Amino acid sequence: MSQIQFDEEFDFISVGSGGGSMVSALVMRAMDKSVVVLEKMPRIGGTTSRSGGVMWIPNNPFMKAEGVDDSYEKSMTYMEATAGQSVDAPGTTKERRSAYVTEGPRMVEFLVKNGIKLQRVASWPDYYDDRPGGSVPGRTIIADLFDTNELGEWRERLEPNFMVIPAYHSEGFKIGLMKSSIQGRLAMLKVGMRIVMAKLTGKRWTTAGGALQGRMLQASLKAGVDMRVNSGVTSFIQDDTGTVKGVVTTKDGKPWRIVARLGVLVNAGGFSHNQEMREKYQPGTSAKWTATPPGNTGEMILEMEKLGAQLAQMNEMVGNQMSIPPGSENQGDGVNLSAVGGQMNITKPHSIIVDQSGVRYMNESGSYMEFCQNMIARNQTVPAIPSWWIVDEKYMQKYMYTGTMPGSKKPQEWYDAGFLKRADTLEGLAAQIDIDPAVMKATVERFNADAKAGKDSLFGRGNRAYDNWLGDFYREDGSHTLGPIEQGPFYAAPMVPGDVGTYGGVVTDVNARVLRADGSVIDGLYATGISTASVMGRIYPGAGSSVGPSFVFGYVAAKHASGAGNSL
Ligand SMILES: Cc1cc2nc3c(=O)[nH]c(=O)nc-3n(C[C@H](O)[C@H](O)[C@H](O)COP(=O)(O)OP(=O)(O)OC[C@H]3O[C@@H](n4cnc5c(N)ncnc54)[C@H](O)[C@@H]3O)c2cc1C
Repeated sequence: MSQIQFDEEFDFISVGSGGGSMVSALVMRAMDKSVVVLEKMPRIGGTTSRSGGVMWIPNNPFMKAEGVDDSYEKSMTYMEATAGQSVDAPGTTKERRSAYVTEGPRMVEFLVKNGIKLQRVASWPDYYDDRPGGSVPGRTIIADLFDTNELGEWRERLEPNFMVIPAYHSEGFKIGLMKSSIQGRLAMLKVGMRIVMAKLTGKRWTTAGGALQGRMLQASLKAGVDMRVNSGVTSFIQDDTGTVKGVVTTKDGKPWRIVARLGVLVNAGGFSHNQEMREKYQPGTSAKWTATPPGNTGEMILEMEKLGAQLAQMNEMVGNQMSIPPGSENQGDGVNLSAVGGQMNITKPHSIIVDQSGVRYMNESGSYMEFCQNMIARNQTVPAIPSWWIVDEKYMQKYMYTGTMPGSKKPQEWYDAGFLKRADTLEGLAAQIDIDPAVMKATVERFNADAKAGKDSLFGRGNRAYDNWLGDFYREDGSHTLGPIEQGPFYAAPMVPGDVGTYGGVVTDVNARVLRADGSVIDGLYATGISTASVMGRIYPGAGSSVGPSFVFGYVAAKHASGAGNSL
């Protein structure tokens, strides 16, 4: 290190404050190593803190404890049937999939030992639960609600979560059905009581990703991790052999060179906000439709590419279908998911998606990533961006619509701006959106016949546990996701392929080390999260397939760099 000029020295540097870097920092502290987390934004936690905070961890210890069937073998079978089917996706080798399934449960145990309160979600089916090894109860883990007061002066520096009410996911899903079910109203009451109690006791609950990252931040500070905000990294420091020895950040407006004895981990998110990169890698998508926070500008992916790192799967994103009302596009801080129409809405009965010729072209209740892949693929042959989301009055009376309550009057400005269309007949609606009325009628009649028979003869919507899971799960007189569109007036609104993150980046090995195109390792450089080409390839096997890998490979990287082996 002697010939390299530097201002400060640590054992390990984590770039970005996503979940992976926080786990890596905890591992380093457990090994008594010094570590700094450098975050570009004024707030800690990244997209992970804003997110649902769900981690997909196969064969996790909570499943074991609760007697839910799973094993390494079963999980690998599922990984092979999903991620393993990805073509041209070097981020997902069999060895990396195996490392994920092996290290995931260990990482969870490590977090629990470090005081992070986690729990299993009782029911969250894998997204392809009908494939070999798929789990219907699911493999997802979330954090317990967290009182942000516990962060003291760091409270204001935690990136806020997108959910405004202090509810667990399962409660939130039930609340969406409060108009049509007693269970929905009871969930509302329970969460309402929690809000009242919080007011009385001064608690400031956060949920989902906010709870997960709040807890990670708390544990990191307690363990003595040096956490820094407004500390964007601009480049790497290398020695003569090309080994990465540190990074250049800024301090007091000036370049600040920090070196690391054991390595540098990049956990700097994706490139959702970088329109230039989107046009290069993901034409047809837009930074206007991302729900990620503004730190996702992709420069660290480009910096690693400059060092010779191989990039892969750059055309993949975690698509998230969005019907975005006027004025709610990304204005810099990302689309607010609570204000747009999305998967939770369209999987309900009395609802379909059609392309601009009026034809249905997919199972609307599948994974959000696949939904957007379908939309983008369809658009190659028939205009489908935007597609049209068609519902009837029965839907409007029973279910939430684009952030509004069931049965509520929809904002007049939606109609005035041409966002929401309404007509007494399907033919009238078709005319308003330039679709041949005969085609629209035929599409809806076919869907209605299928819905009444309880079987989607075109796309099998409703055949999997997952398809039904976000539907109307209290509906007793029919399918949870299929219901005819027959009660006027009828409504249409545009639906675009938005995203909650990109899914491609640098290729890494089983130890999370960054690789060149020839397969050689860039010494000293590790990466995790969506700065990397996903271990899930081109598919989203289950809820938490972004946050899970970020945590797991952050853990793996720090174990490798610190020489912890399996001692942790
Ligand atoms: C509303 C919403 C809900 C979601 N729900 C889920 C879910 O429940 N489960 C799931 O798996 N996925 C979910 N996703 C997607 C998921 O949150 C992200 O893909 C994931 O959190 C990315 O994690 P990461 O660790 O790679 O990066 P991040 O958590 O985004 O962290 C990267 C950090 O690096 C910082 N950074 C960037 N560049 C630099 C630089 N040059 N120097 C220093 N710092 C830098 C960024 O500011 C950021 O804070 C959701 C996304 C959204 C928006």
